[in-house]
Amino acid sequence: MEQKLIIYNTLSRRKEEFKPVTPGRVGMYVCGPTVYGDAHLGHARPAITFDLLFRYLQHVGYKVRYVRNITDVGHLEHDADEGEDKIAKKARLEELEPMEVAQYFTNRFHDAMNALNVLPPSIEPHATGHIIEQIELVKEIMNNGFAYESQGSVYFDVEKYNKAHNYGKLSGRNLEDVINNSRALDGVGEKRNQVDFALWKCAQPQHIMRWPSPWSDGFPGWHCECTAMGRKYLGNHFDIHGGGMDLVFPHHECEIAQSVASQGSDMVNYWMHNNMITINGQKMGKSLNNFITLSQFFSGNHEALTQAYSPMTIRFFILQAHYRSTVDFSNEALQASEKGLARLMEGLKNLKRITPEANGANAIEMNYVEDLEKKCYEAMNDDLNSPIVISHLFDACRVINTIVDKKATIKADVLAALERVFRTFAFDILGLQEEIGSGSGREEAFGKVVDMLLEQRRIAKANKDWATSDKIRDELAALGFEVKDTKDGFTWTLNK
Ligand code: ZN
Repeated sequence: MEQKLIIYNTLSRRKEEFKPVTPGRVGMYVCGPTVYGDAHLGHARPAITFDLLFRYLQHVGYKVRYVRNITDVGHLEHDADEGEDKIAKKARLEELEPMEVAQYFTNRFHDAMNALNVLPPSIEPHATGHIIEQIELVKEIMNNGFAYESQGSVYFDVEKYNKAHNYGKLSGRNLEDVINNSRALDGVGEKRNQVDFALWKCAQPQHIMRWPSPWSDGFPGWHCECTAMGRKYLGNHFDIHGGGMDLVFPHHECEIAQSVASQGSDMVNYWMHNNMITINGQKMGKSLNNFITLSQFFSGNHEALTQAYSPMTIRFFILQAHYRSTVDFSNEALQASEKGLARLMEGLKNLKRITPEANGANAIEMNYVEDLEKKCYEAMNDDLNSPIVISHLFDACRVINTIVDKKATIKADVLAALERVFRTFAFDILGLQEEIGSGSGREEAFGKVVDMLLEQRRIAKANKDWATSDKIRDELAALGFEVKDTKDGFTWTLNK
């Protein structure tokens, strides 16, 4: 690899040079959504962060196997493994099959990810499709003496594990404190210790999501799926495991414990975590009336939003912060991103308008483009520093403007190189896309212009001016518009 990528490893708490287990190949696993509700900003950030990593690793030449799971069983209401299953609860309330709930919200999640230009992972395994692998994992942990059965359920023995290994090494939590705090709570029920977590849960009679196992008809604990599926598709020892910082404890801590307790060693080399999103300085939460789904952002249909924000505005906003920094959403901040993105896209359009000159004054030299490219790579190699890449692209926009304003000139080969570097970083690596206008205002104006044209066509038809009417229809069709005449006028769609 030509590029030397440095990433921050949550486990070692420092930046490390990325060295894959197998040269030229990368195995990466990212915790996907629990599909019982619409995707919101909390889903957008990890999806975009690890999309940036996925794109960059591929760009620099790695063959990447990216696994992002769908959690469709086992994620319980309280503390991840107490209370009712989130999907089963939704199914009960809506009188649906749990798999209908999971499928519906998986589809919605995919739609939102497509809109954000997040590439699909290489494999998207479902927890319910890997019950056998999870049962095998539980058996291994039991055989090694780190789990016990209690009333048909199986729990991980955290205290015993911690005597031989280090529980808390990822989150930096001290187990003694966790245990002492937990003991203050009322009762431990079937568990030996409150900190023990479920590997398998015996299903209550009313619980519909259940599978046979050596211990009971039941379902796997939430943490099992990622260990079992990560190992199945990426092997006993793979490169990167990612997710939001909120997953460090208990989810990822438990995953490490499961892998060490089952196979005797860590499964993952680099743990990467994106920071969280707040809204107007507050944590996002259903009770706080600031819980905004992605489709609400795209439509503007939420009382906290003063306008709609295009998917690319959301993507750009997230990329304008380093993934390990917190991000605070506000209408003002999003409007600033909308303007910034428009400025970047304007720079690209201006590039196409430039006529190169062979011997102009104040020529932009090739070493300017080489330097720009080098600085963009340096920023990406420094733990995916997307805000710095964006600032370099803004600098390039200023240079482009000086050429447009005839204050500088550029030769054809330099112009081509500049366009290549700009497009590579903006589109291939940052994953931005050109949109039809950004924000509702421009979108609306655009729609009105099409309506205006079609109104002219309607008038032409009424006057039997077939030449004009056909010309408008054909030229719109060439641009991808499908126009349909109706009883009261017309409708149109843009097929792009
Ligand atoms: Zn996970």
